[in-house]
Amino acid sequence: MLRRKSRRITVGNVPVGGKAPITVQSMTKTDTKDINTTLSQIVELQKAGCEILRISVPDEESLEAFGYYLNKASIPLIADIHFNHKLAIECIKLGASCVRINPGNIGGKERVLEVVKAAIEHNCAIRIGVNAGSLEKGIMRRFGMTPRALAESALYWSKFLEDQGFLNFKVSIKSSDVRTTYEAHIIFAEKSDVPIHLGITEAGFGEYGIVKSSVGIGSLLLNGIGDTIRVSLTGDPVKEVKVGKYILQCLGLRSFGPEIISCPTCSRKKIDVEELAKKVAERLKDVKIPLKVAVMGCEVNGPGEAREADCGIAGGKHFSLVFKKGKVVAKAPNDEALDMLIEIIKELEENDGSEKAAISHQV
Ligand code: SF4
Repeated sequence: MLRRKSRRITVGNVPVGGKAPITVQSMTKTDTKDINTTLSQIVELQKAGCEILRISVPDEESLEAFGYYLNKASIPLIADIHFNHKLAIECIKLGASCVRINPGNIGGKERVLEVVKAAIEHNCAIRIGVNAGSLEKGIMRRFGMTPRALAESALYWSKFLEDQGFLNFKVSIKSSDVRTTYEAHIIFAEKSDVPIHLGITEAGFGEYGIVKSSVGIGSLLLNGIGDTIRVSLTGDPVKEVKVGKYILQCLGLRSFGPEIISCPTCSRKKIDVEELAKKVAERLKDVKIPLKVAVMGCEVNGPGEAREADCGIAGGKHFSLVFKKGKVVAKAPNDEALDMLIEIIKELEENDGSEKAAISHQV
């Protein structure tokens, strides 16, 4: 997939843009002032694989707590600031990796400029968050509430920061409408190489929120647009990280371990595919190599339908077929087939390790 050429910036020690891997972000949802619960959410998100984390800093007390988290977190922290540019500057001084400001509500150019100066001085990144809810009046008069208006606002502020000689920034262009977000990004991406933070704001909760985010973020990623993503869901932020990883993995942009392909089942099925797929997922949770593992409900169509999988099981009435790289390698009693599949995966994992070792030896 061809990715848009964006400039590379760094958020703490994590590169964003250029050819850097597309990173997965999330945001804490606890009260920032509540040290214990916020810290345990930070730890949970780190464990889940969150790569950059945003924390709201709405007041002085939260500022103090933010400083504490900066010392505890092992991933870069972004301070999320609204209205109060002084808080942004204080977070920068404390050592934030990035501050997210919305120029539409921070109080004018002079204040944005003060934040930029502090960012330059302390080597901090900035995320310019353009939001459909707070567009500049002049832009609204010219373009109305359109995707073009969102793109123009992002272009305007990008130029403003570049004119100060500041390049270590990215933009986000947010609307809760998928089409508006999509079109605004297409317009912006054609005219700018500023790295883009992708997300559908207020996507909602549950399955609908996941689908809405996946369609919005996924359609842009497929166009090569997007350098870091955050799935905004009402609910547990760990889910945001998981969904973000799934989106990137489905598109072949990152690999976070094996992908399980399982058939939807039909009247031909001979085994409980859902139960077996869950068991396979459980047994593979520590496997880190990119693999496609298939769980298919019948031996008639299964191996053929899962031809592109690295290995898999196709269920039979008493015996299942275990296959590897498109070829059947065993016919095993149903209660032994899973162990046999895991053996094959371990072999593939060992081979992957020795292949990597051989490559690094050659280098
Ligand atoms: S693999 Fe077999 S059981 Fe599964 S959907 Fe295809 S035909 Fe039906």
